[in-house]
Amino acid sequence: MAPQILSNKEMLEKLVAFDTTSFKTNIPLIEFVEEYLTSHGIESMRVQTEDGLKSSLHAVIGPTGVPGIGLSGHTDVVPVTDQNWSTDPFKLTQKGSRLYGRGSCDMKGFVACILNHVPKFKARDLKTPIHLLLSYDEEVGCTGVRPMIDELGKRLPAPRLVIVGEPTSMKVVDGHKSIHAFETYVTGKESHSCNPHLGVNAIMAAGDLISELSRMDREMQTRGDGPRFNPPYTNISVALVEGGTARNITPKSCKFTWLYRAVPASDPAEIIDRFEKFAEEHVLPAMKQASSDASIETVKTGEVPALGAPEGSEAVSLTLKLAGANETFAVSYGTEGGLFEQAGFSSVIFGPGSIDQAHAPDEFVEESELEAYSGFLDALADHAEAN
Ligand SMILES: [Zn+2]
Repeated sequence: MAPQILSNKEMLEKLVAFDTTSFKTNIPLIEFVEEYLTSHGIESMRVQTEDGLKSSLHAVIGPTGVPGIGLSGHTDVVPVTDQNWSTDPFKLTQKGSRLYGRGSCDMKGFVACILNHVPKFKARDLKTPIHLLLSYDEEVGCTGVRPMIDELGKRLPAPRLVIVGEPTSMKVVDGHKSIHAFETYVTGKESHSCNPHLGVNAIMAAGDLISELSRMDREMQTRGDGPRFNPPYTNISVALVEGGTARNITPKSCKFTWLYRAVPASDPAEIIDRFEKFAEEHVLPAMKQASSDASIETVKTGEVPALGAPEGSEAVSLTLKLAGANETFAVSYGTEGGLFEQAGFSSVIFGPGSIDQAHAPDEFVEESELEAYSGFLDALADHAEAN
């Protein structure tokens, strides 16, 4: 097969055309990337889900047996459901300097740049290999990258450091908050609403629990333990509430979905520990008095560790040097960088496009930012050849 050479825009057009919304398969995109890499003589390895519907992809350009520099991106995108787009989200559309399409910014623009750089990396006499790490299911809690991280240093060669290309407007990001997601199930007892003493109102108990979360949220705002972040504190958010049957029935069940985003300087378990204690001591006893079957159960549904790159982090100092930057930033969204760093791989977030366009209708990336990122990858190639 003849080696495929595309412009950043042409490559992005191909990637955007694969509808890789997280709840769908990403295999057609992975097959395309495999074929592309093969056309340049690069082998790649899948880390697949058991049902075979989704896969990560790992590839090495350069020598084996030496820890490499990882370039990491996710292949999935958020849904376009209920969003009002003025263009077809899965057909890359250029308007002036902007390239519109779902994932153009978050983060197929980055993936297009690194794929297009494969022949350039390959043409160099690299001393340090470049590793490509493509994942799935990032947008549903950074779950897809975890099996691939587990294989690093085992079936897959381990990187020395990882650059995660999430949209940072080409700023070097060395810190982000952690994410902790939960579902709380409140079980009471049904009765006629004229006989409230015979039942346990699950929605009103849930209301007490939600009020406590609101109270803790306001308390966090006064702490000032995240001055680098916007907002500069741990925040708590209840996002979905379901419960009840009819106006004249004391509701038996209520479920609510909530999360908090904690600044790296805080104890990541503080909010959930205090919430459980409050439920146990202040809400459950009264419910139990009316019904011994009453319960409050909170299930963790997701967690992404914070990124707090340590002083002297190799990933951060190298990226600053290659990008010609001298300042680092912190962001409030979670990324796979926290997981890489937690697994022992020095990590940094640095990518084209702005988070302001991510997940929004009419998502776009500036074509010039993709070109600028390719310039950064040139500097990376120089570094990997010399060191
Ligand atoms: Zn993303």
